[in-house]
Amino acid sequence: MEQLLTWADHRVLGGSGDPIIFAVDDASLFSLTPQAHETLCKWRKSRLVDPDKVPLADQEVLEGLRDARVLVPATRKKHSPPQPQPGQVPLSTLVLEVAQDCNLRCTYCYAGAGTYGAAPCLLDPETARQAARYLLDNSGDQKHVSLVFFGGEPLLNMPAVEAAASEAISHADKIDKKVHFSLTTNGTLLDAEIIDFLHDNQVSVALSLDGPRHIHDRNRPDKKGDGSYAQIVSRLGLLLQDSPVPVAARVTLEPDQWDSVVEVFDHLVRLGLHEVGIAPVSPVNKALLPTPAQEEALLQGFGLLAGRFVTAARKGQVMPFANILDLLGRLHLGQTKQASCGAGLGYMAVDAKGQFFPCHRLAGEANFKAGNLATGINSDKIKLELGALNRGRDRSCSKCWARAFCAGGCHYENYLRENQLGLPRGTSCKFIRGWLDIGIQTYAELRTDGAIEAMGQRLAQRAQC
Ligand code: SF4
Ligand code: SF4
Repeated sequence: MEQLLTWADHRVLGGSGDPIIFAVDDASLFSLTPQAHETLCKWRKSRLVDPDKVPLADQEVLEGLRDARVLVPATRKKHSPPQPQPGQVPLSTLVLEVAQDCNLRCTYCYAGAGTYGAAPCLLDPETARQAARYLLDNSGDQKHVSLVFFGGEPLLNMPAVEAAASEAISHADKIDKKVHFSLTTNGTLLDAEIIDFLHDNQVSVALSLDGPRHIHDRNRPDKKGDGSYAQIVSRLGLLLQDSPVPVAARVTLEPDQWDSVVEVFDHLVRLGLHEVGIAPVSPVNKALLPTPAQEEALLQGFGLLAGRFVTAARKGQVMPFANILDLLGRLHLGQTKQASCGAGLGYMAVDAKGQFFPCHRLAGEANFKAGNLATGINSDKIKLELGALNRGRDRSCSKCWARAFCAGGCHYENYLRENQLGLPRGTSCKFIRGWLDIGIQTYAELRTDGAIEAMGQRLAQRAQC
């Protein structure tokens, strides 16, 4: 007698093509023929399946579901792999807050005009060099590490950027490692000399540009209240010309702009950006909390762009929509998450005073301070603070079908919503699940056509970054 089977957590999604089954724990996807779908619907009603009593006509389908680990032995014990802990993972990415100061006054800035709530401050070049060495010396066996120049506006402190980059290159050379540089900038201070430096050092630039002038200028004025669009666009040609690495636009939109994502995307592609990633604003105050209709508009816009991505892929083109590329990359590799992000787990930030934080977004939150360059990273402190923030989240997420992809969401966003705005846990979950739903449908459509195979290598590279 064969042992009884039961259903593992899964989700069946309809789409324009065949239905898809998403196995939640493995984050794996399978297309179903109409006949297999019918058989599944029939048997899903039973909590237990006795293989000895399955009629011949249904056996093949149920066998397939068993191979896919959607049907599992009823006696199977669910075990979650151990979660990585701060201090156990070598450093792979260090974000340097080279300038806690900024020349813009963006309406949604979570960093309080770049200062993170303190007096404006620049990282001194010697501390920048020390940080670069710290990253390399604490990267364990990893051959490749990333150094990220961030702010405020990092171009306000080129001496620290240059010092860190040259130290990283020479130290990496000595210990046979490679460093990849990236920089997030508002773009207003770019000049020919800085652009030469960025190109010479293959720095991946993320340019904060929110779309057409009427949207960008409302979001990103300078100190006098004038829009910054014209300043950025006038420098864009030089930055894009002969860039050895892609230049990405990093868009942030306020909720009342979420119905404009398609317009924003098209505008930035027309300007020549190599990739466009669109982020809904962090609700740094209650006025930035979206209504359900605004969330719906954002999902609709993302859905439209995902649909256009499929159409382009069928013609052999890759539409440079970073959000869908990232999600498809993870689906393609079946990458599941044990932790919501790398904060404190190989990813750390150093502020302009040389103090460590588990994430650049948490810099300025005194309770998340976790050591400094002289004393090293205080992993116990990270464990304590992130542990307190996440307490009970495992339980609330364990029933969610998006858990293998989300694993609890962004620590900073959770901190904002729950600790500062006093909102209940889970206020962003509907959007997270809606976006994953779109990603899965998109992946399934591309797989049906074989288009996903054509872009497989590109997706895999992204997911590994
Ligand atoms: S450019 Fe960045 S740091 Fe400066 S005000 Fe805008 S969001 Fe804040
Ligand atoms: S969507 Fe919400 S409930 Fe689901 S895993 Fe993410 S944070 Fe947890």
